[in-house]
Amino acid sequence: SREVQPEPSEIEIVPGLGIGGKEFVVVAGPCSVESQKQICETAEAVKQSGARLLRGGAFKPRTSPYSFQGMEEDGLKLLAEARKLTGLPIVTEVVNPRDVELVAKYADIMQVGARNTQNFALLKMLGQLDKPILLKRGMAVTIQEFLMSAEYILSEGNRRVILCERGIRTFETATRNTLDISAVPVLKQQTHLPVMIDPSHATGHSHLVPSMCYAAAAAGADGLLVEVHPCPEEASSDGPQSLRPAEFDAMMKKLRAFVEVT
Ligand code: PEP
Ligand code: MN
Repeated sequence: SREVQPEPSEIEIVPGLGIGGKEFVVVAGPCSVESQKQICETAEAVKQSGARLLRGGAFKPRTSPYSFQGMEEDGLKLLAEARKLTGLPIVTEVVNPRDVELVAKYADIMQVGARNTQNFALLKMLGQLDKPILLKRGMAVTIQEFLMSAEYILSEGNRRVILCERGIRTFETATRNTLDISAVPVLKQQTHLPVMIDPSHATGHSHLVPSMCYAAAAAGADGLLVEVHPCPEEASSDGPQSLRPAEFDAMMKKLRAFVEVT
């Protein structure tokens, strides 16, 4: 908490790149890794627009067991190829505790998804790694509970935790979830950890994503996690909320009115 550590934590990802410091950091990429062409094309495009890290899921926590579950290790290998091509570090999700070691071999940041925010066994394992963790807020998790989940990682010794608000469940159906934008200043007041916003899962509709990116910047977030796909209508997951590279580029240009982005 801020009481224990008053100054904000800047989390070093790779030398020269930190989250929670002066720079507003944008992470972008597809929901799922689908092919070499898809991930490499997306990585090059988002880098060109100013993204600092590449996202992409190789293990997918899908609502239906009949939906695409991810390319698993083949997907991790493609992410590593895209990293080699562009130099962008990788953010990817670990769903199952048994895959922690495997995912850690490839990831620069390990993502914990909203469905695993309170998977305490997984959090404790991640607490023993020497690797930054992007912890998403569960869709029915209060801010207090969210912070306790972060404590599960910190208390095991891993101090590099980044919080991510991705929308919570409310009665509203116009959006996929309801972005709790006020979570940014609340979290900023209560904790020294960096806070990011995921406007893609929060809204579920690509046309709503840019305005929530600007809102996140205006609210004081440390960065964004945005889904981008070269051809959203063909995406294996989350196409409707994915920006096309050109839309992402336009958003990044406008974002510069709110924050300094590289
Ligand atoms: C994702 O980032 O692709 C994802 C599954 O997000 P969430 O856990 O927030 O639903
Ligand atoms: Mn997704």
